[in-house]
Amino acid sequence: MVPAILLVSILVIFPAVTFANHSWNGYHWARTSNPFTLKLGNNLSGVWQPFLGTTSSDWSASTVLDTTIVLGGTNPRPCKATAGRVEECNSTYGFTGWLGVAQIWISGTHITQGTVKLNDTYFNTAKYNTPGWRNLVSCQETGHTFGLNHQDETFGNTNLGTCMDYTNDPTGTAGTNGTLNNEHPNTHDYDQLVSIYSHLDSTSTVFSEIGGVSALLNTPRPDAGIDFDEPAEWGRLIDVTDGGYTAVYERDLGAGEKVITFVIWTDEARAARPDLTQRQK
Ligand SMILES: [Zn+2]
Ligand SMILES: [Zn+2]
Repeated sequence: MVPAILLVSILVIFPAVTFANHSWNGYHWARTSNPFTLKLGNNLSGVWQPFLGTTSSDWSASTVLDTTIVLGGTNPRPCKATAGRVEECNSTYGFTGWLGVAQIWISGTHITQGTVKLNDTYFNTAKYNTPGWRNLVSCQETGHTFGLNHQDETFGNTNLGTCMDYTNDPTGTAGTNGTLNNEHPNTHDYDQLVSIYSHLDSTSTVFSEIGGVSALLNTPRPDAGIDFDEPAEWGRLIDVTDGGYTAVYERDLGAGEKVITFVIWTDEARAARPDLTQRQK
C-alpha cells in the first residue's frame, strides 16, 4: 500500500515545471556541489557600493548559488579578469556607446572567469544617474556572469519585472513600459538558474574550489593585453534579436577558450550606431 508515497516521490523527482530557456548556450560554472558561492570582486567606487550590495543579495536568493562581495582583484581599468570569480568595475570608460558590459570566459561549456564594467561616462549624466538605471545594469550584467541571457531584448515594450529585460524605464514609473520594475531578478531567472545548475560536475572552475591561486597566476593568458573595452575587440556578433538590436558577441581566443560579451547599449548609441546595433538580416 504505497501509492500515495510513490506519487509524492515521483513528483519530487520529476517536478512539473517548464522553464523558458534564457540561459546562454548552457554555459555554467563547473562546481562539485550546490549551492556554490561565487566571489564578486569589488573594484567599485563609493557611489556603486549599495548597488553591488543589492545585486549580490538579489542573486543570492537563488537556491543554487550565493554571491559574496570580496576585495577587488584588479583596477577598474583594464578590469582584468581573475580566474574562478567575477570582477566588478566602474570607470569613465568614455563615450563607447555602452552603459554596461559583462564578459565571461568559456572553456568547453564551463565559465572560468567573468567581469562586469559599468560606464560612468554615462552614469554621470542626468539620464542614467538614477538608482533605477544603476540597479538594472548592475543586476543584469552580473546575471550574465552566471550564464543567463536576456529574457527580452526590446527596449520599448512592457517590462517583465526582471533586470534581464531591456527597458527604457527600469523603475516602471515613466509610463512608457508598463508598471513592473526591472531592477531585480524575477522567479523566471531563479528557475533558469536551477535549470542551468541542477547537475553537478566532477571538476570546478569556482575560485574557492580550484585549489590555490599561485598556479593560475603563472599561467600565461591568451588574451593578455586586450582590455575588451571596444566592440572591435569583442569578436563576431552572434545574437540577433526580434527587437532589432543585437547584444552579444563572441571572440575565439584559441587554446580552447572564448570570450562572450553582453552589452547594454545607451539610447544614444542605438540611435547613432545602427551598424553596431541593428538586426543583421
Ligand atoms: Zn557542468
Ligand atoms: Zn545584457
